[in-house]
Amino acid sequence: MNLREDIRNIAIIAHVDHGKTTLVDQLLKQSGIFRENEHVEERAMDSNDIERERGITILAKNTAIDYKDHRINILDTPGHADFGGEVERIMKMVDGVILVVDAYEGTMPQTRFVLKKALEQDLKPLVVVNKIDKDAARPEAVIDEVLELFIELDANDEQLEFPVAYASAINGTASLEPEPEKQEENMQSIYDMILEYVPAPVDNSSEPLQFQVALLDYNDYVGRIGVGRVFRGEIKVGQQVSLIKNDGTVKDFRVTKMFGFFGLKRLEIEHAQAGDLIALSGLEDINVGETVTPRDHQEAMPVLRIDEPTLQMT
Ligand code: GDP
Repeated sequence: MNLREDIRNIAIIAHVDHGKTTLVDQLLKQSGIFRENEHVEERAMDSNDIERERGITILAKNTAIDYKDHRINILDTPGHADFGGEVERIMKMVDGVILVVDAYEGTMPQTRFVLKKALEQDLKPLVVVNKIDKDAARPEAVIDEVLELFIELDANDEQLEFPVAYASAINGTASLEPEPEKQEENMQSIYDMILEYVPAPVDNSSEPLQFQVALLDYNDYVGRIGVGRVFRGEIKVGQQVSLIKNDGTVKDFRVTKMFGFFGLKRLEIEHAQAGDLIALSGLEDINVGETVTPRDHQEAMPVLRIDEPTLQMT
């Protein structure tokens, strides 16, 4: 089995305020993507208000970090149960998750919620105990709580052997040791943990294309954008493809624009292959869950749950 050793796709999950955004910002910064002294106008993952206004579910953000010749794609996840369907969809796009837990607060309701989703998808979490700089930090007790939670949530043996890093995202420091005085002045242990423990995507680029839309985005210039993963095969700008709709009907279209991710930006790309997370435009009525395939090999991906079931009151 060939692997895309050059790529890691992960989701970052946490209870609100435990430091996901700060951690991703710091990982970006230390990978050199924010130039020295460059003012960062917008934090990596916090423009949810605009999205709510637009009424489009693009709460997940893709950040791509280049580290030691590897591309690490990090998808943010909403922690709230209202977005259960979205969390699940994101988990299907990735091969691993980073669970961030506050070194003082420990596990919280949303920690349980998002961890449960990750374990259900058979993902092996890496744990980052964050805010180790706090006076009241109690990292070892928090790791016991995390382990307890894994057990309560029926984690399998492999999942129970989660690696742990201790960090102060705000200071940009990390270590594999829980003692605050052992923090190293960079986050290298976290990057290395990702490369070591998160499986590289399977490289089945020679098989027929399957790209599945996990999230929708919109921009005035190109219109509707489907964000998702190339699960197998290859896709190129200009290619004639079919879109298998959720109702089973098929629409043919031509790929007009594709985007990859770099840091927080999207860049136009010409080509992508199995394992890549990309954004596609060119078809106005593309929807979450739909599959893009070659015209002569129309095989849909398994159905993705789109919305939480709503209770019908009578
Ligand atoms: P998110 O909701 O998980 O994205 O959390 P944020 O990254 O927005 O962080 C929530 C709050 O915790 C902010 O006020 C951060 O400045 C603070 N914070 C994040 N990381 C650390 C840390 O390592 N140490 C301390 N003391 N505070 C932190």
